Amino acid sequence: MNARDVRRGILEAVDENFDAQLATTAGFVAIPSIRGAEGPCQDMIGDLLRERAYEVDDWPINIDDLRDLRGFAPIEHDCSKARTVVGTYRPNNTSGKSLILQGHCDVVPAGPLDMWETPPFSPVVRDGRMYGRGACDMKSGTIAALYALDAITAAGLRPTGRIHFQSVIEEESTGLGALSTLQRGYRADACFIPEPTSGRMVRSQVGVIWFRLKVRGHPVHVFEAGSGSNAITAAYHLIQSLQRLEDDWNERAKSDHHFKAVTHPINFNPGIIKGGDWASSVPAWCDVDCRIAILPGWSVAECQAEIVRCVTAASREHRFLANNPPEVEWSGFLSEGYELKDSAEAEAAFAKAYDAVYGGTVEDLVFTALTDTRFYGLNYGIPSLCFGASGAAMHGFNEYVDLDSLRKSTKTMALFIAQWCGVEKL
Ligand code: ZN
Repeated sequence: MNARDVRRGILEAVDENFDAQLATTAGFVAIPSIRGAEGPCQDMIGDLLRERAYEVDDWPINIDDLRDLRGFAPIEHDCSKARTVVGTYRPNNTSGKSLILQGHCDVVPAGPLDMWETPPFSPVVRDGRMYGRGACDMKSGTIAALYALDAITAAGLRPTGRIHFQSVIEEESTGLGALSTLQRGYRADACFIPEPTSGRMVRSQVGVIWFRLKVRGHPVHVFEAGSGSNAITAAYHLIQSLQRLEDDWNERAKSDHHFKAVTHPINFNPGIIKGGDWASSVPAWCDVDCRIAILPGWSVAECQAEIVRCVTAASREHRFLANNPPEVEWSGFLSEGYELKDSAEAEAAFAKAYDAVYGGTVEDLVFTALTDTRFYGLNYGIPSLCFGASGAAMHGFNEYVDLDSLRKSTKTMALFIAQWCGVEKL
């Protein structure tokens, strides 16, 4: 078979299997795999891999094994059921390069159901889109990777490089799922993660720090409120100070050679606020869960110290907080940024695949969110590509993936796998 026949065979196979791919995707999206409830998704992936005769490794994550590894983040969640599933394809002829294909099956909470036009975990295909929580981020991508591999088989071919198909959890909160695959020992010559990037290649991505502000005081009746010990309003004072830190960091970002082109790359987000017990009691406590970004090359530890200094300084100038110093707790991500570089060979293989499907050269994406690529790239120097479909409302309501873009990104992935790992006749 010449290269053109190989390509045509693979592309036709993606088209032929696309309805089946969508049916599998819908089944995957229908599983409400929010944090702590990813088990059934991992079961489904295990079954799909076994049906296809991959060697399946399905193990419980032991947090203590991960603590000393680069990129570890504290986990407050019950993770007694946390698992990772990896399916390995091992070729007879290993003349090609090895590859990790990775996707996360955890999804962010759906929020109020009445904000959705159709229920988040009952996927619906409408107007060339599939709607549902996780349809875009990134269950369609994970299933696309599986069908990209299927297309190679359906074209009468098999890869000549080892492939690890990884389904991970915790991508939206700590990244410990991806870290667990590295602790387990999985390595390859490249990694590919089909997150929804709107057909662009992630060139550089932020890191993220999660922290919780804990404000505590003494409860009093509201008629004494003049004594100024309202934990909720005190928390607002801290939020405003952190917004000034965000401004400082965005100034600093102007010297980054990728992020200088992005307006406001550092986003500080107070994401959850809880406090008080009663409308007529002055709130004695307030917890605010926050997220802030950092850039590639910035030290997580130094940025943590800056956050603490910011909170401490803001407290000193506040009557209530000065006497009741708030605590800062690290509540999730302690993630570095990552820039894709030293990856010329993998990118050259991808460029051929991209050109065959889209025509032309892939556009770079400088990404103000993070992906799991950082672990593979930073911890083991594995060049990690992130590329996938388009869609919208990834952490919002009525999330959807665009199906035409999904088809094209599946084709690109299939051709990339064939190019990178090499193929031979079945
Ligand atoms: Zn994602």
